Amino acid sequence: MAHYVTIPIPAASLQDLVQRIFEAAGCAPGEAHRVAEHLLGANLAGHDSHGVARVPRYVEWLEKGYVLAGQKVETITDGGGFVLLDGKFGLGQSVAREAAAIGISRAVTSGACIVGLRNAGHVGRIGEYAEQAIRDGILSIHFVNVAGSVLVAPFGGVERRFSTAPFCVGVPLPGDPVLLDFATSRVAEGKVLVASNGGKALPDDALIEPDGSMSGDPHTLYGDYAQVGPRDAAGGLGAIRAFGEHKGSGLAMICELLGGVLTGGGACGPITERGRIANGMLSIYLSPKHFGTEAEFHAAGRSYVDWVRAAKPIDPALPVLAPGDSEARLRADRLANGVPLQPDTWEGIKRCAIALGVAVP
Ligand code: NAD
Repeated sequence: MAHYVTIPIPAASLQDLVQRIFEAAGCAPGEAHRVAEHLLGANLAGHDSHGVARVPRYVEWLEKGYVLAGQKVETITDGGGFVLLDGKFGLGQSVAREAAAIGISRAVTSGACIVGLRNAGHVGRIGEYAEQAIRDGILSIHFVNVAGSVLVAPFGGVERRFSTAPFCVGVPLPGDPVLLDFATSRVAEGKVLVASNGGKALPDDALIEPDGSMSGDPHTLYGDYAQVGPRDAAGGLGAIRAFGEHKGSGLAMICELLGGVLTGGGACGPITERGRIANGMLSIYLSPKHFGTEAEFHAAGRSYVDWVRAAKPIDPALPVLAPGDSEARLRADRLANGVPLQPDTWEGIKRCAIALGVAVP
């Protein structure tokens, strides 16, 4: 197994530094805290692709006006059981959290709510919004796309046609919830970013070159880049591959259609204007209590998931996991031992802080 160097940074001081960076970049303290908490939360869950490695890119987007601080969602349509919201290119962590809160509170009161959100700045790790619902006992399903970010080749193709279009389902159960949360690409773009920063290498068939050959080299996506500095996916000629062959490629198309086209934010391409990207998200919130099956669902769901976990593993050292287990384990470990950052990631955050006049501890 390849070894790569990381620097463990205590979670609390990393969150504090990131919060101060966003305050210096123009966010009010509450919003800066929200973004920092979300990014750190992604690292704690093991999704470094959606963690603090994104800080320089988010700051650059704020500076260029691609994403705006201090936005609230605007209601476009309100049918009670469904609502369509516009995020007005606000920081995704703010507008998506607000949109989720609307859907969750309606599901808690009335049993269900479908929420469309368009034109949200990068909303980050989708699992956070499912966890927000789980805390109120609400089950949620999320179809997401990234308008303006065409990165992924469909099954059988070499040209980019999808965004990394994540899909997520959060199921509240007593004990541990089930949290399925993944990009419909073979790897999230942020994993290519992390690999380009000297982090975990990509599988050697994660990307595809224009001639159809497989690649695990981040240059396939980004072209040439400086070791420390922003990455531009417009720079490369290749694409990330859709996961799961024709099935994953089909789910990616559904995320584009529901998260992007149905909400009015648009599918990922063709790109007319490069620069600004925006998440679209169609979320379904459902209350098992109102469904009338909550007690049975909790008991039978818990015992079913535990039965799946108890399947004999191929390797006795690697027990079968349910979705969400790996995140919970890493969270406990990283809270105790610090968040391991690649040196280039840490350097990028420090440079960003210094450029904004923020002291680095
Ligand atoms: P991934 O490939 O690491 O898969 C994660 C999922 O697989 C989780 O549900 C996890 O619990 C489960 N899992 C992991 N190991 C398992 C095992 N051994 N057994 C059973 N289940 C297991 O995730 P990814 O595709 O790299 O996505 C990373 C993050 O990127 C996600 O949080 C996603 O929401 C986010 N994302 C966001 C955007 C955006 O535009 N905002 C775009 C793409 C991805």
